[in-house]
Amino acid sequence: MFDIAIIGRGLIGSAAARHMAESGQRVVVIGPDEPTDRRLSSGPFSSHPDEGRITRIAGRTAVWSHLAARSIERYADIASRSCIDFHASSGLVSCSPIADEWVANGVEAGGVINRVSAEWVLEKTGIEITNSHPIVYEGPPAGYINPRSLVRAQTKLVEQTQSNVIKKAATSLELKLGKYVIGGAWGSISAARVLVATGAFGRELLETPLSLQRMCRTTVTAEVLPDPALPSFIMVDPPDARLEEIYWVPPILYPDGRVALKIGGNLIESNPVEQDDLIEWFQGNGSATEADSLKNCLQELIPQKKVVSWKQKPCVVTNTLSGHPYIGWVDKGLAVAIGGCGAAAKSSDEIGRIAASLFSESGWDSIISEKLFAPIFQN
Ligand SMILES: Cc1cc2nc3c(=O)[nH]c(=O)nc-3n(C[C@H](O)[C@H](O)[C@H](O)COP(=O)(O)OP(=O)(O)OC[C@H]3O[C@@H](n4cnc5c(N)ncnc54)[C@H](O)[C@@H]3O)c2cc1C
Repeated sequence: MFDIAIIGRGLIGSAAARHMAESGQRVVVIGPDEPTDRRLSSGPFSSHPDEGRITRIAGRTAVWSHLAARSIERYADIASRSCIDFHASSGLVSCSPIADEWVANGVEAGGVINRVSAEWVLEKTGIEITNSHPIVYEGPPAGYINPRSLVRAQTKLVEQTQSNVIKKAATSLELKLGKYVIGGAWGSISAARVLVATGAFGRELLETPLSLQRMCRTTVTAEVLPDPALPSFIMVDPPDARLEEIYWVPPILYPDGRVALKIGGNLIESNPVEQDDLIEWFQGNGSATEADSLKNCLQELIPQKKVVSWKQKPCVVTNTLSGHPYIGWVDKGLAVAIGGCGAAAKSSDEIGRIAASLFSESGWDSIISEKLFAPIFQN
């Protein structure tokens, strides 16, 4: 019997668990490690099994900028106490018709971001931007984080407290005699209160489903030589017209031994998927069209870069109706922190902290109104 159970040990769940555990609450966090072979696994899968996620303060909304800035200021503490590094300040070039809005959001949250020209970007980084959108450069701490390492760091810090970690999936969540009973192939536990932070797979555990759109995405890694001058990169209206937007993380070492640049984006034509299709999606190779268009973009933007090998992989982005994560109570004693909207890796520590505050005596603790994060249910 626990005071609080957190289901989902991804970026948000592990952060929430750490904040609760380190504030002295006795919690249990339940969530499996990444499957050893995703092609043979039936899930649950996560949206963070990767070596790089962009981090920046210049967000799409003032809320995203705030969440990022508050998280980034705690990166060094998490890394030093866990002895697990996960952040690199490679800087970020962004090119978007609304780049000025991103700058305003970022500057308000404390970021240092400047307008730059295409010539400046070419000279400093070798990237050839040919569309006419405004371009901005965000210096350190912008760059990237290693999301796998961040989950390991948060989990390690939870394990250093009196709290418990169950590295398995939950298959049921039921309210029995005023307590939540959480079950799985490993047995069951009960808890007075529960936080569900299960990312793309969460909705099914809840009696009343949340309004979430799960979007299939394909990422491509291009094996290239290390290039310390190359920053993280975001571009709206990239060279291949099939894509709405692309981003990349500069060349880093992947577990297969390759140093590779990872590029991803979103196709203009893409539809949400349901749970059964999601499992098949994670077991497969992703979309050939998306991979092809991402490769085209990379070759147009850095034509001089010699790519030794290409690989591609499926992933899923979980979007909410509000455009911000859902953080809040959905039933008596049952809260959620779900819906990263493709942008929550960098900000997961603050999202987890706010979710954890729901369970404190004083309740919601953020200067942002909880209304902006209110969970929305499916019709
Ligand atoms: C291709 C791609 C690129 C992205 N790029 C960026 C980026 O550059 N910058 C950025 O900030 N964000 C980025 N994101 C978004 C970011 O990765 C997500 O927002 C983030 O992972 C969301 O965290 P989460 O904890 O909600 O979900 P996850 O990290 O997916 O964690 C959810 C966890 O819950 C577990 N789980 C699910 N069901 C159960 C169950 N029944 N029982 C127990 N555990 C369960 C899963 O195994 C998983 O570990 C990207 C996402 C994708 C897919």
